[in-house]
Amino acid sequence: MDRLADGGAEVDFAIPLAELPGLPTGVGGSVAGRARFARRQELPVAELTVRGSATLECQRCMQPMSLPIDAIVKVALVASEADVARVPTELEPVLAPGGRISVGELITEELLLTLPIVALHGEGEACAAAPADAAAAEQAQDTHKPFARLADLLRR
Ligand SMILES: [Zn+2]
Repeated sequence: MDRLADGGAEVDFAIPLAELPGLPTGVGGSVAGRARFARRQELPVAELTVRGSATLECQRCMQPMSLPIDAIVKVALVASEADVARVPTELEPVLAPGGRISVGELITEELLLTLPIVALHGEGEACAAAPADAAAAEQAQDTHKPFARLADLLRR
């Protein structure tokens, strides 16, 4: 899957997210799209159209949840940290020594920025840990306990 960025290449891809080693384990789903590589102001650039969905485990109910992915990403491939300054502001610098990066690595970079660190079913979605208010209340109680004890201590 390695491609030379300056080849002016277009690559269509369809990748199961489980095959991307840079993503956290347990991320499922798949994405498809197209990567276009070109050169701009002496910099190799890549434009990615990514569509699909990621499947993550809801950290409240431990059931799978699906997140839609629909992104157009424009990146500049830089050989070293020193080259980051040359990247036009509308492009996102991605470190790619020698201008080489695989489509999978580009998608991984993008998803690491996009995916939530803690996945939770959103409002209006079927979360198996319903009612959500009960769980939230329980959590609030837990965090309040140490402060209650502190108040007791201060009173002595
Ligand atoms: Zn849930």
